[in-house]
Amino acid sequence: MTSALSVLDTVFGYDSFRGQQAEIVDHVISGGDALVLMPTGGGKSLCYQVPALVRPGTGVVVSPLIALMQDQVDALTAVGARAGFLNSTQSPDQRMAVERALLAGELDLLYLAPERLKVSSTLALLDRAELALFAIDEAHCVAQWGHDFRPDYLGLTVLHERWPSVPRIALTATATEATHREITERLQLQDARHFVASFDRPNIQYRIEGKNEPVKQLLSLIRTEHPGDAGIVYCLSRASVEKTAQALNDAGVPALPYHAGLDTATRAANQSRFLREDGIVMVATIAFGMGIDKPDVRFVAHLDLPKSVEGYYQETGRAGRDGLPSTAWLAYGLQDVVQQRQLIDKSEGDAAFKRRASQHLDAMLALCETIECRRVQLLAYFGQQSEPCGNCDTCLTPPESFDGTVPAQKLLSTVVRLWRERHQRFGAGHLIDILLGKQTPRMAQYGHDQLSTFGIGTELSEQEWRGVVRQLLAQQLLAVHGDGYGTIVLTEGSASVLNGSRQVRLRRDPVASRGGRKLRSAAAAELPSGAQPLFERLRAWRAGVAREQGVPAYVVFGDAT
Ligand code: ADP
Ligand code: MG
Ligand code: ZN
Repeated sequence: MTSALSVLDTVFGYDSFRGQQAEIVDHVISGGDALVLMPTGGGKSLCYQVPALVRPGTGVVVSPLIALMQDQVDALTAVGARAGFLNSTQSPDQRMAVERALLAGELDLLYLAPERLKVSSTLALLDRAELALFAIDEAHCVAQWGHDFRPDYLGLTVLHERWPSVPRIALTATATEATHREITERLQLQDARHFVASFDRPNIQYRIEGKNEPVKQLLSLIRTEHPGDAGIVYCLSRASVEKTAQALNDAGVPALPYHAGLDTATRAANQSRFLREDGIVMVATIAFGMGIDKPDVRFVAHLDLPKSVEGYYQETGRAGRDGLPSTAWLAYGLQDVVQQRQLIDKSEGDAAFKRRASQHLDAMLALCETIECRRVQLLAYFGQQSEPCGNCDTCLTPPESFDGTVPAQKLLSTVVRLWRERHQRFGAGHLIDILLGKQTPRMAQYGHDQLSTFGIGTELSEQEWRGVVRQLLAQQLLAVHGDGYGTIVLTEGSASVLNGSRQVRLRRDPVASRGGRKLRSAAAAELPSGAQPLFERLRAWRAGVAREQGVPAYVVFGDAT
């Protein structure tokens, strides 16, 4: 039997394994099951490709990446491995040819779309072939709560049941406790050996900043740090993908769009240009990127808030696979938070789904608003401890924090007043207008210039107030109501801020403090004299409500029914 190392050398042209690859490869070659958690770009493919070449028979690779199968097979063929694939894009003739090669023992690797395994003829076909192993790539697709769930992955238990002696290796770059557990259970990998690599990608610099003029901010990033570099820009909607790609092209940055609304041929053409040409910026929805192996992606930019830390980490992980310095840059604003909440509220999912989606969003927000090392937070999310990295924005320019209790109280009491006195809820923009004392038409229409919190927040700029709202949302001291209008309501935690028993630490928005007027010190931001009685009245009222109804007053404030 050829050794793993000689296959690595003669076929793939590498002289040594990386990290845990050698151990994983040995384990699978000797017939063991494995679950491999390794970050994007870590080198998962070799973990099954080498054993498939060493063991007799064909290695069957289950992958959701139908659009990439041809590329993967071409790449393997180019180095002299015998590979083929079976998926829905093929003609019956093409499929037949692959099946014949499989049965003749002429394939080292066979890529299969998961839905193929639901077809009994495929199962019968595999019965007649000699199988080296099953590799289940992107195994997190089996996790129902995850961002890439594929129902067909649930059917993969058939592999173990039907071919118990064929080793299985499941691989993913998504490694939270919960996903790990779900993969183990659903793929019945309890007896498999688990290989958990470090999730750190030290060459990636993580940066998150406030979103003001996103395209301008992006252009400045590209021009100052990444001129001529290949990059990926993620946007939430197809429309913003198109708009952003256009804007980049207009500014002389070669950019291509990619989203599910483009026809297959255009998508394939854009993807292949991105892979083959230098210095192309791919502007895409999250439909783009899984399995894309372009080593020199120098930056990944997010113009909208990702739905989860897992998604964010996978997407940013597409930068710097070659190990050279790369940037992960995210711009996010208050509107993102509101929008994401609305998307969750309007989604078809049941209550449990919405709860999970909210938890994912909360974790993402906490990452955005942290005053600590981003990498420490990211790795902690994946259950790994680390020291401050020195290569993220908060390490490089530690954000100042300040006592934001008083601004928080001003904001929260405005929400309280509107609800208690007028039975009204409003979005963040209007609440900020009230605090700033802006005489907008809406203000007059609702008579909100008569509120006692009108104009009590002029110590902060509008942008700074937006930062306060974002952070209170991130700290769950405020919430976006599920009414679909993005109105702001109190949470269970709000009461302790209002009654002064809880201090609020806020981070100073670096853009705001650099750009315009500086935030005054917390001491200078005392409540104006007129506002103090409000708190007294509030306290008395809350106590009264609590007495009458036997419930904490904030439940009444926040409850919109
Ligand atoms: P993953 O699937 O974990 O995201 P890939 O398997 O696509 O990562 O590998 C990422 C890149 O690293 C590829 O370009 C691959 O050729 C390279 N690579 C993987 N293992 C090695 C190794 N042992 N030596 C050199 N390069 C490697
Ligand atoms: Mg991969
Ligand atoms: Zn850091």
